[in-house]
Amino acid sequence: MNSVLIANRGEIAVRIVRACRELGLRSVAVYSDADRLAPHVFLADEAHRLGPPPVSESYLRMDRILEVARRARVDGVHPGYGLLSERAEFARAVEEAGLIFIGPAPETISAMGDKSEARDLMRKAGVPVVPGSEGPIEDADDAARRADEIGYPVVLKAVAGGGGKGMRVVASSGELARALDAARREALAAFGDGAVYLERYLDRPRHIEIQLLGDGRGNVVHLGERECSVQRRHQKLIEESPSPAVSPALRRAMGEAAVQAARSVHYRGAGTIEFLLQDGDFYFIEMNTRIQVEHPVTELVTGVDLVQAQLRVAAGAGLDLEQDAIQFRGHAVECRITAEDPGAGFLPATGTVRHLEIPGGPGVRWDGGITLGSEVGLHYDPLLGKLIVHAPSRNAALDRMACALDELVVQGVQTCASFLARVVREDDFRAGDLSTHYLEEHPSLRDGDSASEAEIVALAATAAHLEAEWRRSAETPRARGEATDGLSPWRTAVAPWSKRP
Ligand code: ADP
Repeated sequence: MNSVLIANRGEIAVRIVRACRELGLRSVAVYSDADRLAPHVFLADEAHRLGPPPVSESYLRMDRILEVARRARVDGVHPGYGLLSERAEFARAVEEAGLIFIGPAPETISAMGDKSEARDLMRKAGVPVVPGSEGPIEDADDAARRADEIGYPVVLKAVAGGGGKGMRVVASSGELARALDAARREALAAFGDGAVYLERYLDRPRHIEIQLLGDGRGNVVHLGERECSVQRRHQKLIEESPSPAVSPALRRAMGEAAVQAARSVHYRGAGTIEFLLQDGDFYFIEMNTRIQVEHPVTELVTGVDLVQAQLRVAAGAGLDLEQDAIQFRGHAVECRITAEDPGAGFLPATGTVRHLEIPGGPGVRWDGGITLGSEVGLHYDPLLGKLIVHAPSRNAALDRMACALDELVVQGVQTCASFLARVVREDDFRAGDLSTHYLEEHPSLRDGDSASEAEIVALAATAAHLEAEWRRSAETPRARGEATDGLSPWRTAVAPWSKRP
C-alpha cells in the first residue's frame, strides 16, 4: 500500500493525513464545496472535489469517492469515523474495486452494525449483555410483554442505531406504545430502518469502553479502557483513560471479554467494545468497527499510534504487539470542542472563526479541523477539534486540561470550551464520581455563558482596539509599567466572563 484516500473531513481527516505522512504514504483528500479551504485539503498531498455541501451530495456519495480513488490511483481507502465508516456496502464496494478497505471485513461491519445481532454474537462469546429483548420488537403487544419480562425502566433502541438516535427511555408501561411509535419513526428517518429492540435502562451506569486491535487472523489485543460517562443527549463530551472506576482486575476481566468477542469474529483493524458499568458489573452495549473520536487518550497512555496501526494491519504487516508488552502510563483526558451553546441545551452554533489561539506545552495535544476563516455551518458534525492532555496522574491531567481550556481562544463561533473548563474543575468530576447522568445532575455548570450579543460585540471591539494600539505603539502595557495579567488582549478583554472560574 503506497497511497490512501481519506473519505472523511474535519479533524479526523487531518489526523489520518498526518499518520500517512509519517509512514511515507501518499494521502488523497476529498472535499465538499463548503470545505474547499479546510485544513485537511491543504495538508493532504492531493485533494479532489466531491460536490455541494450536504453530505448526501458529497461525503456520502460512494460512487464519486470511488471515482476519485480510481482517478488518483490510490491503493487503500480510510473511512475515518461517522459518514461511510460503518456501511458494509461501502467496504464491499471498495474491495470490489480492487482496493484495500482500512477497517474490518464487510461481514464484520454488518454483523456488528445490527445491534441486536451483535448482542447475540456477544452472548455466544460469553460476554455479559444488558438484559433485553432477543431480536427486534414485532408490535406494541410484543413490546409490552417483553418490557414486563425485563422490568421497567426500559430503553428502546434502533437496531441500526448510532449517535443516540432512535433511542427512547420508557419509565412505565403506560408510555410504551407511544414511545415505540416515536422510536420507530426516528430510526426510519435516521437509518432507513425502523426496527427497534428493548433493553433494561440502567439507572446510574458509567460508560466504559475497551480499545481493540486485531490482525484479521485471530490475533487480538486490548489497549485498556476509556471512561466516556460525561455525555449530553447520550453523546460523549469528555473522555479519559484510565477510568477512575476500573481496577487492574476489572480491566483484565473487561479486556479479556472484549478480546474473546473480537477473536471469535477474526476481527481486523481497530475496534471498540462499549460497556455500561454499574455496581461492579459490566454489560455489552455495542461494538464500533472503526477508529473512535476519543482514540487519542488511549494513544497517550499506551504510546501506540492507533491510526498507524490501522494502516499497518490493512497493508498486511500484522500487529507486532503482544498483550503483555502493552503498558499503561499516566493519565490522559480529552475534551471535545464543539460548536454548541451549553446554556441553550447544546444547540449547534454557527459562525466564522475570526480569531484562534491553540494551547501548547508539555503533554498538550490539539487535533483540530478548523483554521482562521473557517465557516462553521449546520451541514456537518459540530466537532471543531479535540484538546487532549497527558500527565503522570489524574489530578495533574485535570489541572493541565483546565489551563489548556483557558488558553484556547475560538472567536466568531460559540464553543463549549468555557463550559468544559468549569466541568474539569467541578468537585464531583475531580473526585471521579461519574455516571452517564453527570451533566444532568450538575445543571449549574451550564450557567456562565450568558453574555448578551451587545456585550460580546463590545468586548471583541475592545480587544481588537487594544491589539491595534499595542501594535502601533510598539510598547505593551507591561513595558509602560502598567499591570496586566500577561495574556493577549483577546483573553484580557474576552476572558473575564467566559474563562475564569
Ligand atoms: P448509540 O450507538 O446511539 O451511540 P449506544 O448504545 O452506544 O447508542 O448508547 C449511547 C449511550 O446511551 C450510552 O453511553 C449510555 O449513556 C446510554 N445508554 C445506552 N443503553 C443504555 C442502557 N441500557 N441503560 C442506560 N443507559 C444506556
